[in-house]
Parts: sequence; C-alpha cells; structure tokens
Amino acid sequence: MERYGNYIDGNWQAPISGQYAPNINPADPGEILGMFPESCHADVDEAIQAAVKAGPSWRQTPSPERGRLLLKFADLLDQHADALGEILTREQGKILKESVGEVQRAAVEARFMAGEASRLAGETLPSERRGVWIQIIREPLGVVGAITPWNFPVVTPVRKIAPALASGNTVVFKPASDTPWTAVYLMELLIEAGLPPGVVNLVIGSGSVVGQRLAESPLVNGITFTGSSATGRRIYTAVAQHLGRVQLELGGKNAAMVTDYPDLEGAAKEIVAAAFAASGQRCTAISRVIVSRAEAPRLTDEIVELVRQIKVGNGLSRDATMGPLINKERLMTVEEFVGNAKNSGARLLAGGKRLTELGNGFFYAPTVLDGVKPDSMLAKEETFGPVLPIVTVDSMEEAINVCNDTPYGLAASVFTEDIDKAMQAAGAIRAGMIHINHGTASEAHVPFGGVKASGQGAFSIGGTAKDFYMTDKVVYLEIKS
Ligand code: NAP
Ligand code: MG
Repeated sequence: MERYGNYIDGNWQAPISGQYAPNINPADPGEILGMFPESCHADVDEAIQAAVKAGPSWRQTPSPERGRLLLKFADLLDQHADALGEILTREQGKILKESVGEVQRAAVEARFMAGEASRLAGETLPSERRGVWIQIIREPLGVVGAITPWNFPVVTPVRKIAPALASGNTVVFKPASDTPWTAVYLMELLIEAGLPPGVVNLVIGSGSVVGQRLAESPLVNGITFTGSSATGRRIYTAVAQHLGRVQLELGGKNAAMVTDYPDLEGAAKEIVAAAFAASGQRCTAISRVIVSRAEAPRLTDEIVELVRQIKVGNGLSRDATMGPLINKERLMTVEEFVGNAKNSGARLLAGGKRLTELGNGFFYAPTVLDGVKPDSMLAKEETFGPVLPIVTVDSMEEAINVCNDTPYGLAASVFTEDIDKAMQAAGAIRAGMIHINHGTASEAHVPFGGVKASGQGAFSIGGTAKDFYMTDKVVYLEIKS
C-alpha cells in the first residue's frame, strides 16, 4: 500500500508523528487508495517555519513573475484534467464529468489570479501640505493557512493558493482528511510549475490537530477556510486570540423561489441540476424550493420526473449521473434529516432510502419531499445531501420571509417573469449571491461569498480576493526643494 507524505520546505517527507490513516473510496469502501499522514503539532510547526522563512524572497519576486508561475500551473491543471479528475472521483465519489469539470474550473480561476498578480495597484492621494505625496501600498498579508473541505478538493485549494501566491504570500495548506490524494497531486503540479521551496507547504492530518494548530499560531497571519459553520466559528475564535485575519466560506440553505414563472419545466431543470450535482454536497446546492400554491403541483411533477431519471452509481461508470455521499457519517445525517421530516408530516415523493443494492458504497437515492413545514429541520438546516424539500407559500412576500428564516445567507435563486418581484426579491433576500431565472451556478471571475452564518471576511474569487490576501501600508513622502 503506497504511503504518501507531507510537502514541507521543498521536500516530500514522512510525518514526524509516524502515523498514517487509510483513504477509502466512498463508492467502494473496501478499496483503500493509499495511506496518508496523520500529522502532529511538530509537523505543522515545521511547515509554518518553512513558510515564514520563504516569505521575504517570495514577496520580493516581481508580481508578474509570480503570475507566470500560476499561468503554468493553470496550463498543467488543464493538461492533467482527466488524470486528476479520475483521482478526484475515486476518493470523493462525484461523477467523472463533474470531477474533470472541477479541474478545468480550477484552471480558469488560477488563470484569472495570474492576471491579478499584475493588477495589485495601490492608490496615490493628495496631501494637505505642499511637496508631499501620499501613497497607499498593498502588501502581502504574510503566512496564510488554507484549510479546505472534501466536497471540492481541487477547486477550493486552488481558489485559496492561487490568490495567496499572486499577492505574494506563503502558504500552509491543510486539506480535508477525506481527500488528501488530490491535494498531493495539486502539490506535484505546483512543483512542476516552478514553486520555490517553502512557498506552499502541505500538511495532511485531522482538523482538530493540524487545522486547530494552524489557526492558533501567531506566526500565521490569516486563515482562509471553507467548511461548516460550526468549524468556522471555532477557527474564528482561535484566530481572534492573536488578532489574525479570517476569510470564512461556510454552509448554506439555499432556496429556489418560484412564482409567476410560466416555464416550470425549465425551472425544474435548473433546480434539479443545482440540487443534486455532487450528490447535493455543495455549499451552494439548492436545498429547498419555495413555490406559489398555484404553481406547486406542476413544478413538483416536473421535479419528481427529472429526479426519477437520475442514475446513481460509481462515479467512474459512464452511465452514472450521481455518485455516493462522502462517508458513513454523512449518510447517517441525511437519513436523520429525512426521517425527521417524515415524522413531522412531510410526504415522500421520490427516494428516501439508502441504495444497498449498489453494494457497500455510501449511496443514497435522490429524494424529494413536499408538505415540508417552513420551520422544520429539513427546511432550515443545511442537509448537504441529495434531498430537496418543497415548501408552498401564498405570495412573494411570504416566500422572502421563509427564504430569510434560516441562519444561513449564501445563495438563492428566484424564478419569476415579473421584473418587480425579481427586484423586490433581489433587494430583500439576505444572501451573498442571488441568481434570477437560473440555478445557483457561480462564475470563475466573480466574487463569491455569503452573509450571516454563511461567511465572514472578503469574498473569494475575482477582484475581491486580494482584500483578504493583502494589507494596506501608507507612505508619506516629503520632497525637499
Ligand atoms: P468541516 O468539517 O468544517 O471541515 C472543513 C475543514 O476544516 C477540513 O479540512 C477539516 O479537517 C477542518 N477542520 C475540522 N475541525 C477543525 C478545527 N477545529 N480547526 C481547524 N480546522 C478544522 O466541513 P466539511 O464537512 O469538510 O465540508 C462541508 C461543509 O463545507 C458544509 O457545511 C458546506 O456548506 C461547507 N462548504 C462551504 C463552501 C463555501 O464556499 N461557502 C464551499 C464548500 C463547502 P478534517 O477533514 O480533518 O475534519
Ligand atoms: Mg476517501
């Protein structure tokens, strides 16, 4: 069985802890993909020291040169899309088409950030005094800790590492324990692109040991984290002790609101695609439908018909259109959500069970329920699985109230032909991203983030990313003449 290592200060090395954990395939948990480090505090400390040491030379590297490394990295991602996509499917479960698409998306985001490296402009201000210039210079934040989840194990790390490097920071990267293999592959591509030693360091291990240590270290100037709101809170608290900076991208309970929209077939297509991609394990997955009473019966029929066509299976097989869940815990959580909804009077219209006929993999049938009470667990809390509850309302006003009645505020879709209602909803919904007349798909150059329990700090992707990765310095220059 192959043993993988950490990458610290330009070397692949065994964890100081000497401990390893198996990485399994969620479609076939008997298949062990490799043994990966269970690193300890000493591993993390060594990686932080390497990032600190590499900082001065990397920040002095001309930023367009840093951009060139990212361009090369982006090209490598494209060249390796099939091979890396296959590894992604084997350790994460999503279907191959989605995996390859994720790698290609990561390449586009890296390329945008390569360009950003040449756009790190500051500002020049006039002075109250004669002969004085005032400049605002943007400097790298320093050492950045990047902690990532398993649901997008390629694009999420790239979304953090690429802007960090463009802005002149050095990085300690801790991937999710369920997806360390893609992280190793990403490091190999970065090395091939010309990464200097210590500029990005990979430490594999658990969140409570490796992640927590990173967040607590005063040598780490900022943590960029994507994951659950509960872990986000823990990280925010730890980073606050040394007054570091955070960028937190957290959970969501994203609604699709449908009212006065004649093309219900089209709406259903958009909703089902956004709800069941990656088996519903997307932070921006549509995870509830809020529909007018008049349109509910037809929209529900259209949704159920499309959901019945979803073919669940091993993500590597050509005819599968949805893969397994990531692990047993997630499967049990999804079962609990559905059981709870049924007990509180919801009606099961499709799915609602494990697919044991597919073997030991963590397969769950795509599920639709209606009669879901707006204040139930399924309507309000993040499910992170292939489950779509339908809630019926009487007006756009009620739809907006139901939409906002959750701790989260990540994304929302609004389907309506009534422009007044569209703008009313866009103004009143408390979410970071609103999509009118399509599903919750983001673009590779556009700021991405959430409000309330869905996020904290600068939006990632696009032009806002550098607001996390850079800090301001003001220089007053007096010219004696
Ligand atoms: P998670 O349990 O919060 O884990 C995310 C990462 O944090 C993992 O690397 C995890 O390590 C690490 N971690 C756990 N405890 C930690 C601690 N005390 N200190 C520091 N790091 C710690 O989330 P997940 O289950 O992997 O991912 C699903 C969640 O991510 C969902 O809630 C989803 O909505 C959210 N998400 C949000 C976005 C967004 O952009 N808003 C995007 C994708 C996913 P281990 O793997 O070792 O536990
Ligand atoms: Mg795995």
